[in-house]
Amino acid sequence: MVNVKYPEVWDLDVFFPGGSASSQLIEHIESLTPKLDVLKGKIEKFEVPQNSDAALEIQSILESIKEVIMHISQAGAVLSCLTAQDTTDRDALLLQGQLSGIAANSSPILESFNQKLGKIDQATFKGLLETAELAQFEFILTEWREKSKESLSEEEEALISALGVDGYSSWGQLYNMLIGDIKVEVEVDGEKKLLSVGQANNLSSHKDRTVRKAAFDALEKVFTEREEFFAKTLNHLAGFRLAVYKKRGWDSVTKEPLQINRMKQETIDAMWGAITSRKAIFAGYLQHKAHLLGTEHLDWFDFDAPVTDSTATMSYQDGAEFILKHFGRFGSEMESFARTAFEDGWIEAEDRDNKRPGGFCTGMPLSDQSRIFMTYSGSMSNVSTLAHELGHAFHTYALRPVHPLNRRYAMNVAETASTFAEMIVADAAVEEATTEQEKIALLEDKIQRSVAFFMNIHARYLFETRFYEERKKGIVSTKRLNELMEEAQIEAHAGGLGETHPHFWASKMHFYITGVPFYNFPYTFGYLFSLSIYAKAKEEGKGFEEKYMALLRDTAVMTVEELAMKHLGEDITKEDFWLKGIALCEEDVAEFIALTSK
Ligand SMILES: [Zn+2]
Repeated sequence: MVNVKYPEVWDLDVFFPGGSASSQLIEHIESLTPKLDVLKGKIEKFEVPQNSDAALEIQSILESIKEVIMHISQAGAVLSCLTAQDTTDRDALLLQGQLSGIAANSSPILESFNQKLGKIDQATFKGLLETAELAQFEFILTEWREKSKESLSEEEEALISALGVDGYSSWGQLYNMLIGDIKVEVEVDGEKKLLSVGQANNLSSHKDRTVRKAAFDALEKVFTEREEFFAKTLNHLAGFRLAVYKKRGWDSVTKEPLQINRMKQETIDAMWGAITSRKAIFAGYLQHKAHLLGTEHLDWFDFDAPVTDSTATMSYQDGAEFILKHFGRFGSEMESFARTAFEDGWIEAEDRDNKRPGGFCTGMPLSDQSRIFMTYSGSMSNVSTLAHELGHAFHTYALRPVHPLNRRYAMNVAETASTFAEMIVADAAVEEATTEQEKIALLEDKIQRSVAFFMNIHARYLFETRFYEERKKGIVSTKRLNELMEEAQIEAHAGGLGETHPHFWASKMHFYITGVPFYNFPYTFGYLFSLSIYAKAKEEGKGFEEKYMALLRDTAVMTVEELAMKHLGEDITKEDFWLKGIALCEEDVAEFIALTSK
């Protein structure tokens, strides 16, 4: 056996020995129901308090909630690791089903606690938050209370949840079935292939334009044939959501996603406003790329086309060293943390069969550890992914001193630490590129990310806001869905786009996620927010790490507006803040154009 420094297969046995057959894992899952019963008993006994004497009782309920959440998360995390490392692990899939049933039972219990918080009068509530027991929970308790005030009665909300099982979430599941069922016929290198939608989408980065176009045309064709099924699914999913909002008296469709992401509409508007004002530069890049590819306009299927044939690779061991070296330049905690992750089997990177595609990072709250999943095949984008997931793990690590109920950050800030870590490594890779072709390829990689966040994601946001407005008035026809999508794409790409992708509303799973509505703008937020933190880090050097970790520790106990003000001294409801991050991306475009115009 070759002795390698950093194992490429993770260690899950430290949590529950024996994988999905582990008796400890089964016992752990079985112990959840009694834990939930304890919590339920405490909440049933809890009466709406009249004075701050109830602080101790509330603290005890919070400790039970913590217990339940941590145990459910630990089991969920281990099971997602088991199913990801081997998609044929039937036992793990069964346990996953069992766990989601238990987790579903916990929501009405928590909802009933929130409702009781909502009934406490303002003065008593304020007094409770001032007690030694509850002071640290001010933000989440206030959030839960506010949420319950904006909800319907406990019974009505329970009915909505119950009906949602066969309604709302079933539309989301139906989408997964519809898309999973599709096979697309594409000719690649003279051979006809039957591909899944995901495989056909992957051809978008094929070096041969006829292959890219064939895959795109085949996808458009298949979605045209089935558009009525997708339109019906989207209309009913949206209709369910809007009907619930209407009952609750919410008129804005962004109210729920804003609440989930703890941010204001002004912040989103300022972000898109700043981006829109700088779009000409990125549209110029798209024009330039079209010329490099020898076409007049950049069509949808040309976005991911390679402009060089650079194929720089790096072994896993070298990739690990590269990441450690550059994390170390930023700060010693980040380096030593990543070293532990590499050495102690926190990472599953081996390239082998039966693994799930993609990458993720998951925390193991009962063990104060994380696990990272990916398939490392040696490309520079694999090195970026690895850094990205380590960034997520570092966020979890930074939160260790904080009470577990104060660690539950939202999607918009979730991508902050990951993008930050990715940026450190992506920038270093550009700087250390050994050939000009490699440098161009790496630089383009970075720019493509900016274009995706500023243009593609913007198109999704524009489409979704407009579609929901029209849906309020009735069913939106397939013809209209296609029109709305084309308009959004043309507008979002500011004249830089040739052929559009009208059926994108059917091909993109994100429009059908029921757990998190508007699965788009938080990506752009996280990207630009982390860019501005990165700019500060570059300015301040090694001393910044401590401030950075303090910011991460606060990500789940305040709004993002407060977070930026407290830790960066910035008002993110103003366009000025966002322009600074965008300026860094503009530099990449200028450099890319200079290098490829010679
Ligand atoms: Zn991520």
